[in-house]
Amino acid sequence: MIKHIALLPGDGIGPEIVAEAVKVLDRVAEKFGHTFNYTEVDIGGCSIDRHGVPITDEGMATCKSSDSVLLGAVGGPKWDSCPPAIRPEKALLAVRKELGLFANLRPTRLFPQLASASPLKEEVIGNGIDLLIVRELTGGVYFGQRKTEEVDGELVATDIMPYSEHEIERIGRVAFETAMKRGKRLASVDKANVLDTSRLWRKTMHRLSEEYPEVTYSDILVDNTAMQLIRNPGQFDVLVTENMFGDILSDEASMLTGSIGMMPSASLSSGTLGMYEPIHGSAPDIAGQNIANPLGTILSGAMMLRYAFSLSEEADAIESAVNKVLDLGYRTTDIMQEGCKKVSCSEMGDLVAQQL
Ligand code: NAD
Repeated sequence: MIKHIALLPGDGIGPEIVAEAVKVLDRVAEKFGHTFNYTEVDIGGCSIDRHGVPITDEGMATCKSSDSVLLGAVGGPKWDSCPPAIRPEKALLAVRKELGLFANLRPTRLFPQLASASPLKEEVIGNGIDLLIVRELTGGVYFGQRKTEEVDGELVATDIMPYSEHEIERIGRVAFETAMKRGKRLASVDKANVLDTSRLWRKTMHRLSEEYPEVTYSDILVDNTAMQLIRNPGQFDVLVTENMFGDILSDEASMLTGSIGMMPSASLSSGTLGMYEPIHGSAPDIAGQNIANPLGTILSGAMMLRYAFSLSEEADAIESAVNKVLDLGYRTTDIMQEGCKKVSCSEMGDLVAQQL
C-alpha cells in the first residue's frame, strides 16, 4: 500500500513527538511492505513566524490532497499575544472545517502497567478502563448564533444550540460502526429530560439502533455519565455525544488514566480523510529537552492505520509494541514509577520500533 501523509509537527514538543511516530510508522512500512510518503506542513506558531499566518493556503491544500494528516500540537506563550485572527489554534479550526472533520474519536485506555497513575482507587478501576468517546465536532452550541444585548437595563447573553437530524444521524452512524468494531456496546449521552436538541438526538439514535441489532444500545443522561465515569468506568465501551458534552466528558475521561502523554485521538470526515493527534498540547515547559512522552502520537499513528487505511493488523502491532515496552519497565519522565527505567522521547520511539 502506498499512502501520502501530511505531517504537521507544529510547536513546542510537536516536532519531537511526531518524529518518533514517523520512526514507528516507517518500521511498520518496512515490516508489512507498505510505503508511506510524508509532506511536512508548517502549522501554528512556527507558521506565523515563517509565513505570517497559522497555516498557508498551500499547506491547507497539501492536507486536503493527502490520504491522512498527522498532527503534533500547536501554540505556546510566544504567540499568546497574537491578534485573534492569526492565533495558532485558528489553524486547527480551519483544518477541521476545510476537511469536514465532524467526528472526534477519543479512546481512553488505562494501561494496566500504569494503573497507579490513575486518580481512581484500584477497586474502582477493577478490570481496567477501555472506553471510546465519539464526540460531534462541528455542530451544537459552539457553532450556533450568539449575542450579548442590553435588555431592561442589563446585559443578557444568548448562545443557540442547533442540531439537525442529518448531523445527528451522521455522528450516530460513526458511533454504531465504531461499536461494531469494538465491544458492540453503545451508550448515547444526552439531556433529553430538558433539551429539545437532546430529544431529537435520542429519537434519531433509537431509529439508527434498529439498523444495528448486534449493538447493545442504551441512553444515559449527561450528568449521570459524568458520575458513572468516576464510579464505574469499566461499564462503558463506546459513548456518543454532542459537541459540548463531549468536550467536557472526554477531558474528564482522559484524566482517569492519569497520563495525558499517552492518549491518542482521531477526527474523521465522511470520507477516509482524517486528522490524527495526541490529546495534549505543545507542552512548552518541556519542549526541546527530548523528555516528552511520544506514545500518544505513536498511538495516534496506530489509529490512522486502523481508521484511514484499514490496516488493523499493523495498528494492533503498534499497540502491542507499546504494551511490550511498558511491560519491560521503560518509562518517559511523565509516567516514571519506582523500579522502572527512565528513557528519553527518542529512546521511547526506538524501543517501540524495535518491538515491531
Ligand atoms: P499541555 O497539554 O501542553 O501541557 C499540560 C501539562 O502536561 C504540561 O505540564 C506538559 O509538560 C505536560 N505534557 C503534555 N504533553 C506531554 C507529553 N507528551 N509528555 C510529557 N508531558 C506532557 O497543555 P497547556 O500547558 O495547557 O498548553 C500549552 C500550549 O498548548 C498552549 O499554547 C495551548 O493553547 C496549546 N494546546 C494545543 C493543543 C493542540 O494543539 N491540539 C491542545 C491543547 C493545548
